[in-house]
Amino acid sequence: MKAFCLQAGLKRVMHDSMLQHVVIFMGPPGSGKGTVSKRLVDELGWVQLSTGNLCRKHIAQQTQIGKAIDLLMNSGKLVDDELISAMTEEWLAEQSKTSAVLLDGFPRTARQAALFLDILTRIPVEKLDVVNFIVPDEVIIERLANRKVCSNKDCQAVFTKNAAASSELQAKGRCSMCGSPLIERKDDAPEAVRERLRVYHQHEAALMDCLKAANIQVHQIDGNRVPADVYQDVLNTLATHSV
Ligand code: AMP
Repeated sequence: MKAFCLQAGLKRVMHDSMLQHVVIFMGPPGSGKGTVSKRLVDELGWVQLSTGNLCRKHIAQQTQIGKAIDLLMNSGKLVDDELISAMTEEWLAEQSKTSAVLLDGFPRTARQAALFLDILTRIPVEKLDVVNFIVPDEVIIERLANRKVCSNKDCQAVFTKNAAASSELQAKGRCSMCGSPLIERKDDAPEAVRERLRVYHQHEAALMDCLKAANIQVHQIDGNRVPADVYQDVLNTLATHSV
């Protein structure tokens, strides 16, 4: 896999950057990480890496990585730990020193957590926070069955089916942000969601143990509330500073 990472053009180098604040959002698919991330990006100017969005972009652009992960991802399976970590490191190395950086969906396994700790030896971080969104599985299955996303891979905004449209564009089945058609994600189909939840829970305990062993505190957030309350709770928890 290391060879594939290098072949695919992913660099593994020493960086001279230091990041001010990195926040990791953990939680099952559909737990609201993306919704909170979007507000932090739009309202506070944070920068976000959603590893899921990055994977979907590779697939849409038919890159070498995209071709390798397409089937796997659409059936709800995880992408290889080394590959996703290398993609994350490459992205982190491009961020500026002063940015507050959000990692949405990485690390997801104990191996990825170990690889992340290794990344921190090359890209030092002044402050690290981990937030875990807790939502019952049955709520998630219903949420994802009701989700539509923007088909533009540079946008990927998320909408709720049958909800009152917030714009004329949305009423026509188009994204309110960029006007592209709204689609259902293949991996939001119920059988793929069940597989994603199974995979998530399979890795959850070992991931938490790995963070605990590294003395990294995880802030627990009740994600089964209206988005505004969850957002406020995250802000309070982080006692956030705008950038
Ligand atoms: P998400 O949009 O976060 O639900 O991720 C969608 C899919 O992208 C996952 O089911 C995986 O196939 C892939 N993916 C995203 N992040 C990771 C990760 N940290 N490790 C492995 N696979 C990932």
